[in-house]
Amino acid sequence: MKFNRLINRNRITYTLLFLFILNISSYAQQRIEGLSYLDGKPVSVVIKDGKIVEIKKISELPKESKKLYIAPGLIDNQVNGFIGISFLSETGGILTLEGVKKATRALWERGVTTYLPTLITNSHEELLNIFLKLADFKNDKSLLGSIPGFHLEGPYISPEDGYRGAHSKKFVRPPDWNEFMELYKASGNSIMTVTLAPEVEGAMEFIRKCSEKGIVVALGHHNATAEIIDKAVENGAKICTHLGNGCANAINRHINPLWPQLSNDKLSISIICDGFHLNPEEIRVFYKVKGSDNTIVTSDVTEFAGMPPGLYKILDGEEIELTADGELRYPAQKVLYGSASAINKGVQHIMKVTGCSLADAIKMSSTNPAKLYGLNDRGSIDTGKRADLILFKLSDSELVIKKTYVNGKLVYDASK
Ligand SMILES: [Zn+2]
Repeated sequence: MKFNRLINRNRITYTLLFLFILNISSYAQQRIEGLSYLDGKPVSVVIKDGKIVEIKKISELPKESKKLYIAPGLIDNQVNGFIGISFLSETGGILTLEGVKKATRALWERGVTTYLPTLITNSHEELLNIFLKLADFKNDKSLLGSIPGFHLEGPYISPEDGYRGAHSKKFVRPPDWNEFMELYKASGNSIMTVTLAPEVEGAMEFIRKCSEKGIVVALGHHNATAEIIDKAVENGAKICTHLGNGCANAINRHINPLWPQLSNDKLSISIICDGFHLNPEEIRVFYKVKGSDNTIVTSDVTEFAGMPPGLYKILDGEEIELTADGELRYPAQKVLYGSASAINKGVQHIMKVTGCSLADAIKMSSTNPAKLYGLNDRGSIDTGKRADLILFKLSDSELVIKKTYVNGKLVYDASK
């Protein structure tokens, strides 16, 4: 009798232990359900330890997920700042880890789970100091790997008005490999892409050296001829930065940088789809020429995104204006000063303008940038990839983000 009781007691203990372990493992696993961005059909994605471990088609969605799409998190390759935080300056110690965290959280709320902080034309000292700080911040655990590296746009661009855009003329200069290597080291070897003008002195050799190091060379803010553009591609240039912008307002109809960049099949493009930088017909033509395989939706978003409309002072003390409908104007140069909309707006805008599918729009704003920068752990919903996932509704003007997961962690829930 006593012996039996002992056995029973052990059995109960083992059962409880088993249930406890089961509970822990099911706790570590999470199931996220939504309409697949690929075909609109219900799907269940199981994630564990920050990774996607299973994807299954299901017959219907639970009530709370009805009409919510699921897609990989958006990847933005051009972020100058966000919500009052700028990556363009650190004068006076204004660039802080707290600031980077704030900008990252605000981007998560817009569905952006990976982004490249983008530094534009500036003095060597300032660029060096910003990179030193960002290299340190990017590895902070709380950012969950959302910053894999950086984009250096300039200072090796065209000094010509119009092509230079809003970049400061006094800091524009030809490429200098030693200077760049100092910046590269300061960034923790994390400059993933450089935007430059291929026609400036020394650019071809610089493009070749960058390409050999696996740094993606982008052509932008330039006035290069067809011959030079094709040569830049032979030397390794892969993409045109914000095609159709960073270009003078008045150009020769036969000889200008747009035709050769469109006609070279080896060049992909990034385009700003905020409704202000390009007319619908430009986006339509670019998309028809390059297709969804060779197009990336970018934001070129600045610190003024998410801020109230009004006049703001920029680096050189000049004024820019953020209008009520989200246009960011730079009156002194008669150009736009970057954008005020994250790419959750761009995804919807390119669908509206070109009629492309949601699957293609997400490919252009997540899968393609992941491939371009060799970020093989993200950019699609596949087993083994990081669980960077977004749940959203489609509105007339943007993806309305309901939940964002980064590396398996729920970082944004609109219902809370
Ligand atoms: Zn630019």
